[in-house]
Amino acid sequence: MKYQSLRGMNDILPDETPVWQNIEASVHGVFQRFGYSEIRTPLLEKTELFSRSIGDLTDIVSKEMYTFTDKGDRSVTLRPEETAPVVRAAIENNLIGSDKLAKLYYMGAMFRYERPQAGRLRQFNQAGVEAIGSNSPVLDAEIILLGIKLFEELGIKGLEVELNSVGCASCRPSYIKTLRAFLKEKLGDLCEDCNARYVSNPLRVLDCKKEKCSAVMSKAPSLSDSLCPECKKHFESVSGLLAAMNIRTRLNNKLVRGLDYYTGTTFEIVSSQLGSQSALCGGGRYDGLVEELGGPKLPAVGFAIGLERLVMLMNAQKPSGKGPGSKFVYVAALGEKAQKEAFIILNSIRNAGVKADMEYTGKSLKSCLKAASLLDADFTVIIGDDEVAKNAALVKDMKTGQQKEIAFERIIEEIK
Ligand code: AMP
Repeated sequence: MKYQSLRGMNDILPDETPVWQNIEASVHGVFQRFGYSEIRTPLLEKTELFSRSIGDLTDIVSKEMYTFTDKGDRSVTLRPEETAPVVRAAIENNLIGSDKLAKLYYMGAMFRYERPQAGRLRQFNQAGVEAIGSNSPVLDAEIILLGIKLFEELGIKGLEVELNSVGCASCRPSYIKTLRAFLKEKLGDLCEDCNARYVSNPLRVLDCKKEKCSAVMSKAPSLSDSLCPECKKHFESVSGLLAAMNIRTRLNNKLVRGLDYYTGTTFEIVSSQLGSQSALCGGGRYDGLVEELGGPKLPAVGFAIGLERLVMLMNAQKPSGKGPGSKFVYVAALGEKAQKEAFIILNSIRNAGVKADMEYTGKSLKSCLKAASLLDADFTVIIGDDEVAKNAALVKDMKTGQQKEIAFERIIEEIK
C-alpha cells in the first residue's frame, strides 16, 4: 500500500526548503527590527474560541474548520487563523494591559477545509503580527510598512496596497441598514451564497467575487460615505502616514475581509501575479475582539501573510540558486584508506564555514564527478590512495574544469 498526503496538504521538499528558510530568516529579522516579539501557541484550541471571534456565520467557521471531539468529549479545532489564539494567549498570560502595548508576531501552520487550488491549501503557513493595546493610526501604518519592508527585503516587486475602513459599532449598523435596503430589491440577481449573506452578514456581499454579484455591487451605497467622524479621521490619518512613507495605497471600498471581528481599517497587499488568489497579506483593526474574548477593553490591529503565496512569488520573480558567495564543495573519496582522510578534510572545510558533503558509498571517480555536478558543487576534492601517500588532494574547479594538486593543509585556502 502506497500512501499519499491528504488533499491540500503538501510536503515541502528539500529543494524547496531553502526559499522557506530565507523567508523565515527575513520574517524574524524584519519583525523584530520593528519591535515585535515572537509568540508560539498550540495548533489545537477550543472550538468556541474561533466561533466566538471569527463569527459563526463566516465561511471559515461554518464550512472550513477541522473540528473534532477529543477523548475527553471536548470540541476542539485545528487553528484556521492565529489572531484569536494570540489574543487568547495574551489575555491568559497577562501580556496586555491599559499601560502596556503588546507587539507580537507568529509564524506557523493554519488549517482550513477549502477547495484546494493554486495559492489555496488546506494546511498552509502564515506569518503575522498583532499589536494589542492602542488605537493609534501610527500602528495601522506601521504594520503595513512592516509588510512592505519584508517583501522589499525578499526582493518582491509589483505589489499594491488596498485600503478601506469598515467602520465601528457606532457607524456600521446604519450602513448595514442602508445596504440591506439596497440589496432587498436585487436578491434575484445575486448568487445563492449572497442571498444567505443578505440575512447573516450583508457586508460580505460587497466582496463576493462572482460576476453577477459584483455587477450589482458596483452600484451599492459606499461604505466610506457612511463612516462616523472618528472613523473618517482615523482612516485619513492612516492614509496620510502611509503617504508620508511613500507607500501608495488604493481605496477599495469593497474590502471587508472574511472575518467578523474587523473594525475600522482593513487592508490587503495584493499581487496581480498571484492570479485569482491575489491577496498576499490581509489584516486590519479589531478593536472589540480582546473584550469579546474575556479580556480588557483594548483596541488592536494585525495582519497575516500567506507564506505559500509568498513562495510562489519568490519563485516566479527570482529563480532560486545558492545565492552569491555561498560555495559548495564535494569531497570524493576513492578507496578505503582515502575515506578517513576525506572525512577529516570534509570536517575542516565545514569548520571553515563552507558547505560541504562527501561521497559515502565508494563510487568510481566518474560517478563521483557526476554526483558533484548534479549537486551543483563549485569544487570537487578528489582523494585516492596516491593522494593519501602524497598528503595532497586533486582539487577540481567544477566551473572551469581545471584540476590542481593541493597539499591537504592548503585546501581551505585554495577554496576560499
Ligand atoms: P486571512 O487569514 O483569511 O485574512 O488570510 C490572510 C492571508 O493568508 C491571505 O492573504 C493569504 O495569503 C493566506 N491564506 C488564507 N487562506 C489560505 C489558504 N487556504 N491557502 C493558502 N493561503 C491562504
